[in-house]
Amino acid sequence: MTNKENSGILIYAQLTRDEYIHTVFYELVDKAHELSKKLGKVDVNAVIFARPGLVDSFKESFQNKGLNKVFYFEDDNLRDYSTDYYSKLLVDLVGVVKPEILLIGATNQGRDLAPRVSSMLCTGLTADCIDLDINEKGQLAATRPTFGGQLMATILCKNYPQMATVRPNVFKINQDINYFDTEMVSCPVNIAYLPKRVEVLDFEKTLDSVINELDSAEIIVAGGKGLKNKKGFELLEQFAKTIGGTVAATRGAVEMGLAPVSIQVGQTGKTVHPKLYIACALSGAIQHTVGMSGSDYIIAINNDENAEIFDIADCGIVGDVFEILPEYIKRKI
Ligand SMILES: Cc1cc2nc3c(=O)[nH]c(=O)nc-3n(C[C@H](O)[C@H](O)[C@H](O)COP(=O)(O)OP(=O)(O)OC[C@H]3O[C@@H](n4cnc5c(N)ncnc54)[C@H](O)[C@@H]3O)c2cc1C
Repeated sequence: MTNKENSGILIYAQLTRDEYIHTVFYELVDKAHELSKKLGKVDVNAVIFARPGLVDSFKESFQNKGLNKVFYFEDDNLRDYSTDYYSKLLVDLVGVVKPEILLIGATNQGRDLAPRVSSMLCTGLTADCIDLDINEKGQLAATRPTFGGQLMATILCKNYPQMATVRPNVFKINQDINYFDTEMVSCPVNIAYLPKRVEVLDFEKTLDSVINELDSAEIIVAGGKGLKNKKGFELLEQFAKTIGGTVAATRGAVEMGLAPVSIQVGQTGKTVHPKLYIACALSGAIQHTVGMSGSDYIIAINNDENAEIFDIADCGIVGDVFEILPEYIKRKI
């Protein structure tokens, strides 16, 4: 364990291809303020990489999120994500700023960057966390599913910075303004001597990269294997339409070819927290519930009264979806 000369929380602000800051950053900032209080109000700072002239346009959102400092690197070579450049600059910054915690979103980019940075810093990384806390010794307690999702493990890191990645949508964004006169710190981009091993020629959008409606849905109607076939999912879609909901699926349903993987919820799918989650004919396996248990209100419909989904549901209906859903559709609730 290193001496604790490290202090504060540093969060990586990822830019999307459309030059927005990825929402997972704002989710992490709000969680970081919570952690900061438990650590005795340490600084919550951010780091961002961008093309020249871009970062100033985000200053107000950084201030409204109560960040103490934002360290920014602007250069033409940083316009597109580069594992070599970004990891080198982030490692250099950590050497100077010495945060005790470094948080990165578990996006495709974050999943590439975080392990590289942690190995360069010889520190530990807990990936794909579903919760973060500070334990009684002031250490980051990072919780993630393990053993194929059968168990939740809370992992401590022996070295500094203690690193974690968190999937988008795990934490809620706090809408309250937490204004601070954020200091914007321009950092030198010392990468000229690094070989350019990868050149980005073009980007092509895949279906999965198109913003998924589930991210912002207030009502989600999820279907499982109990819907049996495509007709069952059509019934689910009709029901969702009736109540203004968005359809999601379990991995079981996806594997049966009833739904596309882009709407799978759970450990290997999306994490969602709508106001209302209606779970239809799905058992409530932990690999599914880790992705939806943060919903405000959960209704479960299952014909097995012992189904695990009832353990986390606010309201349970024991019955056959093929009888219950048509009845609701007929009544147009
Ligand atoms: C490493 C790993 C990662 C995984 N990741 C995910 C993930 O991201 N998301 C995910 O969902 N799963 C994931 N899984 C799979 C998970 O373990 C379960 O197998 C899956 O969630 C089960 O899907 P299901 O609930 O649709 O099917 P089942 O478990 O078969 O449940 C079907 C349910 O439908 C009910 N039912 C049947 N007919 C009717 C009817 N007519 N009316 C009402 N109810 C009915 C049954 O009682 C039953 O409870 C993962 C598994 C592993 C090992």
